[in-house]
Order: sequence, then structure tokens, then C-alpha cells
Amino acid sequence: AAVSTEVGGAIRAVPDFPSPGIVFRDITPLLSDGPLLRTLVDALAATYSGTVDVVAGIESRGFLLAAPLATALGLGLVPIRKAGKLPPPVIAQPYELEYGSAVLELREGALAPGARVLLVDDVLATGGTVGAAADLVERAGGMVSAVCVLIELLDLGGRAALAGRRVDAVVAY
Ligand code: IMP
Repeated sequence: AAVSTEVGGAIRAVPDFPSPGIVFRDITPLLSDGPLLRTLVDALAATYSGTVDVVAGIESRGFLLAAPLATALGLGLVPIRKAGKLPPPVIAQPYELEYGSAVLELREGALAPGARVLLVDDVLATGGTVGAAADLVERAGGMVSAVCVLIELLDLGGRAALAGRRVDAVVAY
């Protein structure tokens, strides 16, 4: 709870970015705060210690949290990337965006069969991104133990879109 309050205080709300009417949640002030970043990563590591086998980070900002968390847990990191960034062979998962569609990719063979995966991203909005990443992990033979996001945007209903999955958010707006 104390960590949530501190983290919440280090996230900046930027009105009308990247387009009018959007309130962008900027985590860069949190990343710049060394002691707070350490406190956050240690708290998350304590939450998941012993319950997951690997950490999967979603490009791009998910990587920024997934990498230190994997290190703190002593686990490997698996990047889930946007289309065309990983060399073949990959498993690809298309998904719908508000306008258009996108594809996430995972290296084939990156997950041991039945691996318990902690899925990490910065923001949960509609849940489309995390949902596609979870589908990808399961198609690759892994199991999603939990989804960990820094920020949950409550109005967009992402948690409902991920029905049945464990979703942990450090702060919610
Ligand atoms: P969703 O697929 O609608 O849940 O959107 C989540 C994705 O959009 C995440 O990968 C975020 O990086 C990005 N995103 C959505 N809103 C914000 C925001 O306010 N700040 C930073 N990233 C955001």
C-alpha cells in the first residue's frame, strides 16, 4: 500500500497526449527515481517469488519493468515484441486496436512446456495488448500465472476483458 502511494506520486498525468482528450500516464519520473524503482522492484519480486518460472515483458515499456523484476527474482526474461523485430522462427498473435490491428510475436521455443509465466506491461487499458500476449504465451505452451501492470485505467474495462486471469496493478485510475 505504501509502495502504491509512492509510485502513484511518481507517475505524471499528461493531458491531450498523444492526441486530444487522452490523458497519458507517464512513468518516466518513476524510472528516474532510483530508490523508488528499487523499492517497487523489490516489492514485486517478494509478491511473485517462488510462484513463477519466467518473466515475459511486453514491448516497449513493459521491458523496463520486466528486466529488473526478472533479475530480482533470479529468473529469465522473455521479450514479447511487435511484429518484425524478432528473428525467425516466431509465433505471431494478431489483435485488434481501437483503430486497426497489430501483431505481437514470441520466439518459438522461448518457453519451456508448462512454464509459469509472469506477464508484465506498464499500462492496462482495454486489455487488448495483455490479452493477445497471454494468448501468445499459451499457444507457445506456457501458463500465465499472473499479469502485472504498473497502471490500470479502470474506465477502459481491461480487467473484464481478461476474465479469469489474475491481474495485479500497482496503481489504478
Ligand atoms: P490496451 O491494449 O488497450 O490495454 O493498451 C495498453 C497498451 O497501450 C500498453 O502496452 C501501454 O503501453 C499503452 N498505453 C495505453 N495507455 C497508456 C498511457 O496512458 N500511458 C502509457 N502507455 C499507455
